[in-house]
Amino acid sequence: MVHLTTEQVAYLKELLLKQENELISTAEETLEEMESKDENIPDPTDRASFETDIGVELKIRDRERKLIKKVRSALKRIEDGTYGLCDKCPEEISFKRLEARPVTSLCIKCKEREEREERLRGE
Ligand SMILES: [Zn+2]
Repeated sequence: MVHLTTEQVAYLKELLLKQENELISTAEETLEEMESKDENIPDPTDRASFETDIGVELKIRDRERKLIKKVRSALKRIEDGTYGLCDKCPEEISFKRLEARPVTSLCIKCKEREEREERLRGE
């Protein structure tokens, strides 16, 4: 964390913790909602749309789970003192970029390369 000040790190850590809390509470709400909906639905049409809803919910939850993982690994990097350094090269990640996306573990150049490669693979 050479280039980040203690204040900047504290600020980014707060952003991450806030994001983690939000994700956890959304996940709980989604779960409750799914449980309350999953009562007897006799009409097959309703049943089908309910199952579509579940599919969508699961996709959202999957994305949230992945994001929570990223948030937690960013928090761990803060503890380790490696936060703010790029995962793939010796570059430092700018504070501006971290502020906009505190979970990021790649510098802008590596991120752009990764996105290009994903596009090439059709992801
Ligand atoms: Zn990099």
